[in-house]
Amino acid sequence: MSTREVCLLIGQQGEVLWCDVSDNPALLPDSRERWEAIWRLRAELTEVAHSHPDGPLGFSSEDETTMEALTTALGRAPRFSVVAPGGMVARVDGRDVLVMSEPWWAEPLREASGMHARPLALA
Ligand SMILES: [Zn+2]
Repeated sequence: MSTREVCLLIGQQGEVLWCDVSDNPALLPDSRERWEAIWRLRAELTEVAHSHPDGPLGFSSEDETTMEALTTALGRAPRFSVVAPGGMVARVDGRDVLVMSEPWWAEPLREASGMHARPLALA
């Protein structure tokens, strides 16, 4: 089964404001639609999450570039997170932390990305 990289924009109440999907699991190319959605939803936007269906559990160099551009455009840094098969990581105050208590949308995000069952939880 093929995997897809999915991007979610999350609002203040933890709701999914917007979603897009890429056929290329290694990289979710910047899309004009996504930038427009981010700008339109900027007042409510609290978190930008995306999946790495084939790993790794961490931010790529493309992600770093995108996060920097977004932070500059918004004038503030939303929370950024990556959901991978083995867990979820978020950037909080400039540090990458493992998210132990995952939000409700993490598992649907895995499903939408074509990931299979979550491996055994990390100790
Ligand atoms: Zn990424």
